[in-house]
Amino acid sequence: MQYKAWFQCINPECKDHYPLDMIIYRCKSCGSLLEVQHDMKALARRDAKAWKKLFEKRYKTTEWPYGSGIWGKKEWVLPQISNDNIVSLYEGGTNLFWAERFGKIIGLDNLWIKLCGNSHSGSFKDLGMTVLVSQVKQMISQGAPIQAVACASTGDTSAALAVYCAAAGIPSIVLLPKGKISIAQLVQPIANGSLVLSLDTDFDGCMRVVQEITKDETIYLANSMNSLRIEGQKTVGIEIVQQFDWEVPDVIIIPGGNLGNVSALGSGMLMMKDLGLIDRLPRIVVAQAERANPLYRSYLKNFETFEPIQAQKTLASAIQIGNPVSIDKAIRTLKQFNGIVLDATEQELADAAALGDTTGMFNCPHTGVALAALIKLINAGKVDRSERVVVISTAHGLKFSDFKVSYHEEKLGFPSRFANKPIEVPASVDAVKEALQHALKNRQAANK
Ligand SMILES: *Cc1c(COP(=O)(O)O)cnc(C)c1O
Ligand SMILES: [Zn+2]
Repeated sequence: MQYKAWFQCINPECKDHYPLDMIIYRCKSCGSLLEVQHDMKALARRDAKAWKKLFEKRYKTTEWPYGSGIWGKKEWVLPQISNDNIVSLYEGGTNLFWAERFGKIIGLDNLWIKLCGNSHSGSFKDLGMTVLVSQVKQMISQGAPIQAVACASTGDTSAALAVYCAAAGIPSIVLLPKGKISIAQLVQPIANGSLVLSLDTDFDGCMRVVQEITKDETIYLANSMNSLRIEGQKTVGIEIVQQFDWEVPDVIIIPGGNLGNVSALGSGMLMMKDLGLIDRLPRIVVAQAERANPLYRSYLKNFETFEPIQAQKTLASAIQIGNPVSIDKAIRTLKQFNGIVLDATEQELADAAALGDTTGMFNCPHTGVALAALIKLINAGKVDRSERVVVISTAHGLKFSDFKVSYHEEKLGFPSRFANKPIEVPASVDAVKEALQHALKNRQAANK
């Protein structure tokens, strides 16, 4: 095998190694999280130009499995997996579009949205889950005693786990906080045949339980403390740069909860820089909900201290997390990428999502958090008009139609600045004409 990867402890004083086919989530010597480390010398034997050409040649082709955004970069992700064990639903390769009108409204000429929600299960979680479930399939084929794969979830991890396990024929178990996820997210693992356990607690409570039940090696842990997921998610940054013909954007904004995704974004960028595909790094901005903002609080103290908090209920339910498992990795990433952390109130995130929708987006509330953070950055003069900015949109808006309905019905407990209610009229031509005249006049006045 030409290329190699292994688990390595993230603690710089420890750096213990473990093979990728070992059932392990934390370092045995010091208890820190692990990360996947690649044999960079072997990867560097192919030059940057050749890597770019290879990635471009495979991008979105039907040559299985390389047309997947993840497996097109297989050598950088999980080089030792046999293609027979790959469980792929052609994840990745999502659209990156110029948000021209929204950008102009908020004061940017070069704003782009990376729409990770346009994916098989409707969120970026697919990028990591294809890697984890593929590795599980490989371990089972080698005789590992794994009977099922389990996760705690705020909704999207469980949807992704359920769908990839269903595709592979591997049983899955999901632990969900009762009443804290959207109906769409609840029905996804139900439809895909997962064992769905609804617990009367929050995400952090589910996370504690799943860590206990996966101490038994027959149940494999699929949360992002398992760094196999990070390996898949790291391709999002590589894909963005590839989509810009290998130009690095100035700023990337990402909503953060458990903080695996921001760590993954950084890791993909660093790998490109190490291997000479790019010569500079973007600035990374993490956006949190004000009601679940432990990273923001730590940022205000220059990351000198970190304290978990009790997360409060937020519309951005996928990031309602008070004790993020990847905190150390995220802080390391933010220090390397001249990082900024911002937070957004419920009203700010809801209005930002809705304003975006009026310009042709269809935002989930987490994307609303990122857009609200962007507006604050511009108002604070931290981003200039001409800079190329990318917002990572993490889930599909249709998963959160209950949020959108409540917003437009003005039932969120604060004013909805961009509410757009259906007009009820009798079914007669005259009544419709009259209603339209009135409504169009109002619109024109509002646009002045
Ligand atoms: C999981 C998730 C996030 C947060 O990602 P982390 O890696 O936990 O920081 C943000 N948005 C959506 C829609 C998610 O599903
Ligand atoms: Zn260690």
